[in-house]
Amino acid sequence: MTGTRPPLDETQPTDTEWSYETAAVQTGIPRGLGQTVGIPIHQAAAFQFTTLEEAQGEFQLNQGLSYARLQNPTVRALEERLTALEGGAATVALASGQAATLTAILGVCRAGDHVVSTASLFGGSAGLLNNILPLMGISATLVENTPQAIGAAMRPNTRLVWAETIGNPAGDVPDLSALAEIAHARGALLGIDNTWGGVGYLCRPLEHGADLVTHSLTKWAGGHGSVMGGSVTVGTGHDLTRNPIYTDGGKNSLLNVRGEAALAWRQRWFGAHQLGMTLAPHNAFLIAQGLETLALRLGRESETALALATWLGEQPRVGRVSYPGLPGSAHHDLARQYLRGGFGAVLTFEVPDPAAFLSRLRVIRIAPNLGDTRTLVVHPWTTTHGRLPEAARRAAGVTDRTIRMSVGLESPEDLRADLAAALG
Ligand SMILES: *Cc1c(COP(=O)(O)O)cnc(C)c1O
Repeated sequence: MTGTRPPLDETQPTDTEWSYETAAVQTGIPRGLGQTVGIPIHQAAAFQFTTLEEAQGEFQLNQGLSYARLQNPTVRALEERLTALEGGAATVALASGQAATLTAILGVCRAGDHVVSTASLFGGSAGLLNNILPLMGISATLVENTPQAIGAAMRPNTRLVWAETIGNPAGDVPDLSALAEIAHARGALLGIDNTWGGVGYLCRPLEHGADLVTHSLTKWAGGHGSVMGGSVTVGTGHDLTRNPIYTDGGKNSLLNVRGEAALAWRQRWFGAHQLGMTLAPHNAFLIAQGLETLALRLGRESETALALATWLGEQPRVGRVSYPGLPGSAHHDLARQYLRGGFGAVLTFEVPDPAAFLSRLRVIRIAPNLGDTRTLVVHPWTTTHGRLPEAARRAAGVTDRTIRMSVGLESPEDLRADLAAALG
């Protein structure tokens, strides 16, 4: 940081020795006489300079505060917290998970480039890859979630391999280290949508070779079904030397000018500066507050989800139950390898008559969200995955009888009774 302007880092630096639970409540909070104990909300669109030189310096470097589309101290505090919890190098927080996915992809791909992704994806991510990115000349191949299928789909122009920590809603866990190896061998990066990994609580993909992780902060991070947000966190040690976006321009190439920080810089430049998908400070505050209890919530929700998945598996009227925590799950071994602290809050199960089942629920609510304190169900076939072609829905693990349930914080007994009554 140059110039006389104080940099943004007046907050307490993150101690890398901190455990997850400590970092979740301590990171990003200023320390000092009269400072707020929690993260304060800076409800401001612009920030002052006192001289021409200060303003000019900031416009050249874009490292401090000038205009809130670019940076805001509350958003910055959330970004520090997310970076700490994912074990990353830098984060840009954005207006939604969808904004984060788009930013992550545009950060490493341009017209003529290619993405290989697993097929069991959040519907909106599949929509971006199949419908929106092709408009910009970026193509995608969606394949089965195995290293073999992903390896076979790689092309010379593949810049990014994409997967979700736990596939939506099939519950499939990718072999992260194997995918990292496949991507890196071809000069591509590995990007993981870690929404279901609970901001590093269940899984830290960066520690298994991923180069960047994204989140829908709308889910377990916000955690109360009250706010939307997204983020891209970049790790260290990624190799951009085979990506022309970073190497074009010789001496003035992004890689030469920005070094290790080039990837994070471009994510912020695209998502926030240029596309304007900026997170509002009040939303950043709510999400940062949600992160303070994420470990408690997701730990408890995972326990309840495992108990309910086990119980549902014993019910004669229930068809296939899919949850990576079940020992019989095809994804259990990879889940045990890559997840800790639980297997997540989401399970799917098949019921004979979804409409009748949903209409009888009295505690559990029908809503297309995840990671709420309340237990929510949807019928993915007609809602979240309804726009995908039938074959793609089946590839994502969805049939016309599938119910997806995101387990909340209600008592497990009340939830089981509600499910039992709805099953009839
Ligand atoms: C919800 C979700 C998204 C999209 O996030 P929004 O905040 O709704 O834009 C992306 N990926 C996964 C896995 C999700 O569950």
